[in-house]
Amino acid sequence: MKFATKAVHAGVAPDPSTGAIMTPIFQTSTYVQEGPAQHKGYAYARGANPTRNSLQKSIAALENGKFALCFSSGMGATDAVVKLLKPGDEVITSNDLYGGTYRMFTKIYEKFGIKFHFIDLTNSANIQPLVNANTKLLWVETPTNPLMNIVDIKACAVIAKKHDILLAVDNTFASPYLQSPLELGADIVMHSVTKYLGGHSDVIMGALVVNDEKIHQELAFIHNSCGAVPGPQDSFLVLRGIKTLHLRMERHCINGKKVAEFLKAHPKVGRVYWPGFPDHPNHAIAKSQMRDFGGMLSFTLKDDSIEKAHTLMKSVELFALAESLGGVESLINHPASMTHASIPKEERLKSGLVDSLMRLSIGVEDAEDLISDLEQALNKV
Ligand SMILES: *Cc1c(COP(=O)(O)O)cnc(C)c1O
Repeated sequence: MKFATKAVHAGVAPDPSTGAIMTPIFQTSTYVQEGPAQHKGYAYARGANPTRNSLQKSIAALENGKFALCFSSGMGATDAVVKLLKPGDEVITSNDLYGGTYRMFTKIYEKFGIKFHFIDLTNSANIQPLVNANTKLLWVETPTNPLMNIVDIKACAVIAKKHDILLAVDNTFASPYLQSPLELGADIVMHSVTKYLGGHSDVIMGALVVNDEKIHQELAFIHNSCGAVPGPQDSFLVLRGIKTLHLRMERHCINGKKVAEFLKAHPKVGRVYWPGFPDHPNHAIAKSQMRDFGGMLSFTLKDDSIEKAHTLMKSVELFALAESLGGVESLINHPASMTHASIPKEERLKSGLVDSLMRLSIGVEDAEDLISDLEQALNKV
């Protein structure tokens, strides 16, 4: 089955008791058993729920994976992966990670004796020197937030295979429509389902997808033992969202390209970070591992100041000032005063997060309206 057909049909079947075409919301905590331990695969809803099961099958199919597990948030999914490790184990990851992932690794898991190496993963040659017998996990995110850096998943997979290290890829920014990490050699794909998979800014959820049965069983054990499972209402909302994933992504990509090109040509705009530009430093890798370039981009003002960025963000009318991404509506945010405000200014500048840097999550509105909105706002700065 091709992607669009899977988005509509994978994992779902008419309800056998009624013929309902939409998967019912099985709002139940437990299931009546015919005799002790005699049940239809459902005993208690932390372990299994039919609405969640349908969603898990759908997400597995979209990632070309065998097994998926859905979690109550993206962080819940990441947490389960780290729980595969034990004290003394080491993780190699990027110095350009989603802030919540960095916070979990350093503030929660370092104190359990897991060691994290944060390095520049856009150059895969940086990995090898840090590998030792304790290295158990390579955690990759691509494209990264907010500078849209691209990490070569295949190159990471070669190193991971050679040293028997698990390779996990946070595929949130690309979505399964644009990038299939399992096919590029990853062992685990992680999603913040909250973003493109849900797509309507109304659910917090996470997911993991794997091909290997043993890794699946270990993760499923953690899933049920630690209990970060999503409810059936949220599972239903995501099942509904996924039915239009391909249509939304197609429009996110078209709009993203138009807005990126508009900004690049604007006299008040400094740099535009979007992996579709041939002069993006990792454009060639983006082109080889992604099917298109998505709707996420960042830009700076030539006259770099926090005040000017604030003026622009207060002047936009269509773009909503908010964290998060991947929904149908366009959002703008300002890393220096929002998502990355806790990073000291010198550190922030070192990684290119200048004062006026703003990130856009381009929605599925009409691109001309989005561009006019940015144009009138740029005229005010
Ligand atoms: C949002 C996000 C997460 C965390 O997901 P939640 O659903 O908010 O817990 C992890 N990685 C990336 C890249 C994200 O954008």
